[in-house]
Amino acid sequence: MAKIVAIAEHRNGKLTDATLELCKAAKELAGALGAEPAVAIMSKDDTLAKEVAKYIPLVLSVTNAALEGYTADGYTQAIKAVVETQDVKGVLVPHSYDGVDYAAKVAMAIGAGIVSNCNKAAVEGGSVVFTRNTYNGKIQEMKKVNTDKFVATFEKGAYDMEAAGGAGTVTAVSADIANVRTKSKGIIETMAGAVDISQAKIIVSGGRGCKDADKYKDVIVSLAQKLGGEYAASRPVVDSGWTDPARQVGQSGKTVAPDLYLAAGISGAIQHVAGMKGSKCIVAINKDPEAPIFNIATYGIVGDLFEVIPAMKEKL
Ligand SMILES: Cc1cc2nc3c(=O)[nH]c(=O)nc-3n(C[C@H](O)[C@H](O)[C@H](O)COP(=O)(O)OP(=O)(O)OC[C@H]3O[C@@H](n4cnc5c(N)ncnc54)[C@H](O)[C@@H]3O)c2cc1C
Repeated sequence: MAKIVAIAEHRNGKLTDATLELCKAAKELAGALGAEPAVAIMSKDDTLAKEVAKYIPLVLSVTNAALEGYTADGYTQAIKAVVETQDVKGVLVPHSYDGVDYAAKVAMAIGAGIVSNCNKAAVEGGSVVFTRNTYNGKIQEMKKVNTDKFVATFEKGAYDMEAAGGAGTVTAVSADIANVRTKSKGIIETMAGAVDISQAKIIVSGGRGCKDADKYKDVIVSLAQKLGGEYAASRPVVDSGWTDPARQVGQSGKTVAPDLYLAAGISGAIQHVAGMKGSKCIVAINKDPEAPIFNIATYGIVGDLFEVIPAMKEKL
């Protein structure tokens, strides 16, 4: 049976949330196509293959010393081996830094069409139709590939994470991996204490309405800590040096999709919204009832953030 194969992503010995989201995507798409869902995982051994088997019935495990750290050459050769031996119709890739690095190379290597940065895939008349945002999310475009096989990258939060529960089969796939032109020497955090807000479940984000660095810290940082979440910011806050660039959300910052995104003193410019619209629940606090952020908010509070947030903290 043809397979829809999601590519697992892992860092520091752990599967990323994107892997679990793509397990869901592979199951949904395979179900609609009458295909078999699977995950392919590249690693130096099969420890994580057993872990991912809790989420999907079939895991295709490529183990090789050359796959100890991520490289585009290594992943491309390994995925090509999976596609050539396993009757693969579609390859689903996280739209992450690594994913966008290797996805197009894989598409070239297997002769497949590629659609990047998708937020949905549906089957219409037997063909897969991919949906992706364009013009900073102002419009959505629908795309099909003209090839038999496809590669698609999916943005963070496009699918809910699959819950663990099953006990899938792990099948070894052998791949000759040669001529790897780069070597991964480890991951260096770009700045001391830098966080990956894209993995946070709760984000409290502050905008220019926070007025200055001290007030931003007083209201936004402290509320995030109280909620056990991460704090984040719009671009003017980062440009003003109130917090570090790793915490910027938006087109030129990070894309996040937490369970809760609380936006305080943020107007909701399209470039900011592009990075957080996939959040499951959006709470906006703004003193301007016409602020565009209210158009996408699940709950909107029209008010002064310096009154609303202290009241929230008191309740908490
Ligand atoms: C190429 C490009 C890339 C960009 N990338 C990004 C990006 O990645 N991320 C990003 O955020 N922006 C980005 N921008 C900038 C973006 O266009 C907006 O300028 C920015 O998002 C506005 O930030 P803000 O909402 O904090 O500020 P503002 O638009 O100035 O809004 C401040 C809001 O605070 C409210 N407010 C003020 N005081 C209070 C108060 N006391 N209580 C409650 N509400 C209050 C106001 O009503 C207002 O709505 C980009 C722009 C360009 C051109």
